[in-house]
Amino acid sequence: MTDATPDFDAVVVGAGFAGMHALKSLRDTLGLKVRVYEAGDSVGGTWYWNRYPGARCDSDAYIYCFTWDKPLLQEWEWSERYPEQPEILRYLEHVAERHDLKRDMQFNTRVTGAEFDETNTLWTVHTDKGDTVTARFLIAAVGSLSTTNLPRFKGLETFKGRWYHTSRFPRGGVDFTGKRVAVVGTGATAVQAIPEIAQQAKQLTVFQRTANYCVPARNGKVDPEVTAARKADYAGIIDRLRGSFFGFEHSFIPKSVLEVSDEEREREFDRMWDTGGFAFWLANYQDMFFDQKANDLCADYLKRKIRKTVNDPAVAEKLIPKGYAYGTKRQPLDTNYFETFNKDTVLLVDAATDGSIEEITEQGIRAGGKDYAFDIIVFATGFDAMTGPLKALNLKGRGGRTLDQQWADGPHSYLGISVAGFPNLFTITGPQSPSVLSNMPVSIEQHVEWITNCIDAIRKSGKTSIEATPEAQEQWVAHVNEVVNGTLMPGANSWYMSANIPGKPRAFLPYLCPEGVGGYRRKCDEVAAHGYEGFVLA
Ligand code: NAP
Repeated sequence: MTDATPDFDAVVVGAGFAGMHALKSLRDTLGLKVRVYEAGDSVGGTWYWNRYPGARCDSDAYIYCFTWDKPLLQEWEWSERYPEQPEILRYLEHVAERHDLKRDMQFNTRVTGAEFDETNTLWTVHTDKGDTVTARFLIAAVGSLSTTNLPRFKGLETFKGRWYHTSRFPRGGVDFTGKRVAVVGTGATAVQAIPEIAQQAKQLTVFQRTANYCVPARNGKVDPEVTAARKADYAGIIDRLRGSFFGFEHSFIPKSVLEVSDEEREREFDRMWDTGGFAFWLANYQDMFFDQKANDLCADYLKRKIRKTVNDPAVAEKLIPKGYAYGTKRQPLDTNYFETFNKDTVLLVDAATDGSIEEITEQGIRAGGKDYAFDIIVFATGFDAMTGPLKALNLKGRGGRTLDQQWADGPHSYLGISVAGFPNLFTITGPQSPSVLSNMPVSIEQHVEWITNCIDAIRKSGKTSIEATPEAQEQWVAHVNEVVNGTLMPGANSWYMSANIPGKPRAFLPYLCPEGVGGYRRKCDEVAAHGYEGFVLA
């Protein structure tokens, strides 16, 4: 190790919620020299890129924001329960302005690679704009769902119409009026977009590979008295979120659904259904994620709702999820999703019954031997989740080893925040942390606070590096897998299980902490309190 002085104390990759908070914290709390690189031309991350019709948050807005700016929690007025993408982006722009974040951000710049320099204990970071800079710490704030998955459909290049992926929608939107439109996919994104597109399009055809259990979002204006009460209780709310299971004000019903009477169960299900949002998913009976029989009762309720809502029984049958347990794929929240299939102008093409997509043709899509003609195709086909954005950074750790090599059979991290062999790299909401199984801002803030304290401790101790030990990492990986194997989650072909990308090794990507995000926070704090147990500080 030498005393080589880096260009920056820290380089942060990404300017979404995570990168913005990391910059604020490292620069304004620790006084570090920080540079943020961002591929977009402004802040926002997810909310910068995902401009598809109907894009809005699925967490209530009062908890989908930064909690470290206490005056802003009081000042900011959200227009509805789940604001749309432009409003969230406006909020993030406002935060950037208010805290003068952009002066340390370089936009329109993608990090193309970084190597760890073992001699000088520095990261050398390269960008597509020709920058090469050095930094002591490298903070990946690249998001969990930011690497677009565009399946390699044969013939896409021959299509004569226009096509878009939802995560790269053009600024200003797309006018679907009078158009024949296809939407490929029925995940959380498509469930938001389909009802909106159907209102404009002359004809909308939805290509479904796997049907989804959807629950109403129940968006709308929030009663001003409720908002005032929340503002008066923000300290309590923050406390509850931090100690909660999923970063929401939700807790499981501490009973087995199998023990209660039919009347009680139905009453509780109705209550959660009427509440809307994630209540049905994250505040249901405690055995729902673990016991197939318990899960079947929840699933059955949602299936009955589909049959009641969709007029054509054949279409309803196609929309009924099959082959996986409720809640083991991400719960989409909907506004008139199932109702949309009652429109004469909307057609459902289901892979199981009508045949799957064979190719894209000049005119449209061929599926199940049949040709469908379109002016516009919208791919709502998701992301190479969690590991994808990190691998895309082309990092080289000790001995020039890449994440691709290190993660050949799935992610290996310690606490989801660091990777053995990659010293001084921190992954905000990285694989094997609660991340996508929580209300993201809660997990982002927890990681940023932990990383800030960690870097502070390293500097105060006169050390220059921190690195997870392979032993601690492998214990963590085993723990993450053991916990999830006790649930129904591995049974689904979900992106949580890496199953959406052909060839991606099947592995559970986030971490389902048995004690929730509160328990995970305690674990991370204990590691720090014990002198960064499981890490080597040098
Ligand atoms: P997704 O959940 O991965 O859904 C992608 C859809 O495309 C699925 O229906 C999938 O079918 C289908 N698909 C993928 N490859 C295909 C292929 N080769 N042929 C046919 N169909 C194919 O992606 P997403 O809807 O973009 O959502 C991803 C995540 O983003 C969500 O789970 C959520 O965490 C987040 N999100 C959040 C919000 C919010 O908070 N407001 C909104 C939207 C999304 P299979 O199911 O069979 O794989």
